[in-house]
Amino acid sequence: MQSVLDRAAAGGRITPDEALELYRRAPLHALGQAADAARRRRYADTSHIATYIIERNINYTNVCVTACKFCAFYAPPKSDKGWSRDLDDILRRCAETVELGGTQIMFQGGHHPDYGVEYYEKHFSAIKKEFPQLVIHSLGASEVEHMARISGVSVEEAIRRIHAAGLDSFAGAGAELLPERPRKAIAPLKESGERWLEIMETAHNLGVESTSTMLMGTGETNAERIEHLRMIRDVQDRTGGFRAFIPYTYQPENNHLKGQTQATIFEYLRMIAIARLFLDNVAHIQGSWLTTGKEAGQLSLHYGADDLGSVMLEENVVSSAGAKHRSNLTELIHLIRTAGRVPAQRATTYEHLVVHDDPANDPVSDHVVSHLSSTAIDGAAAHPELKLIDAS
Ligand code: SF4
Repeated sequence: MQSVLDRAAAGGRITPDEALELYRRAPLHALGQAADAARRRRYADTSHIATYIIERNINYTNVCVTACKFCAFYAPPKSDKGWSRDLDDILRRCAETVELGGTQIMFQGGHHPDYGVEYYEKHFSAIKKEFPQLVIHSLGASEVEHMARISGVSVEEAIRRIHAAGLDSFAGAGAELLPERPRKAIAPLKESGERWLEIMETAHNLGVESTSTMLMGTGETNAERIEHLRMIRDVQDRTGGFRAFIPYTYQPENNHLKGQTQATIFEYLRMIAIARLFLDNVAHIQGSWLTTGKEAGQLSLHYGADDLGSVMLEENVVSSAGAKHRSNLTELIHLIRTAGRVPAQRATTYEHLVVHDDPANDPVSDHVVSHLSSTAIDGAAAHPELKLIDAS
């Protein structure tokens, strides 16, 4: 096992069987040490830095025909709990994002039965017209499959059109678990894992890069987790279009799975480490404080992660399922610094925008807060003292 760890730490490729053996049995610290060595090797000049981004998830509708069993966010069509945000509301949220120093929008919502390619073209072009400085890093293969079906066009045409309208890159949501058995168990109405990857590959070939994700803890086996990684690595060998891999953990509240299974923090940290070692062709591994907590987020930086996600100005999807962790810019910087790294605000494409190399110059504003607006928080607008600016 140590020779496999040494090979992976030195940049050598490991097989799925070796990855599964390491994931199941390698001592936790040895696994973390090898993953951290792989990270330091990859980022030789900047290994002292860990990055974060300021972004906003704009949840444009919760109406969804896909009814995933782990989801606490959606409302079926015709439900009186369904809502959609209008364009003015969306633009106002973009304006807030700009005002608070955010650089990225994640447009994330349900598979609305009326929203085809035209809906996304209209919204992305309006956002880009008003706020050309915002990067639209949004959607995933599932939304593309859905919008193409609604509009009666190919996925290739759908991708070309929304890219032309302003989409910069895909966030890669909807990967859930890619292998067939666990995917059918939790998202039976979603496209297959192979189809999800095929659509992402089409996007990469059209010049639209993406990140990739994994939902852990809904009853999948260790072997299925490693198979998920193998499927991503194989596509990445052909396209190189996945910028990052982001595992996160299933949240147990308000959904059909009822929290019967959940991933532990140790399973999560082992996944971060094995992803760094196995995905030798994916540059960035992101730790998630939102679903696992801030301490686990800090630890992930010692298990191969080079990025600690975002100050998420708004998030409703996993929050609806019970993700209760909240943070703000000063705390996120503090978390990175006390984990022994120099914090740096990054762009969507991972360039460093601001390196906080002197603590005396750290931002002090307490306005840049995660979940400043969330339908998942009682009373909604959690920070009414924030000045909302008019999009016009
Ligand atoms: S995860 Fe997405 S696609 Fe699935 S039910 Fe929820 S909103 Fe719909």
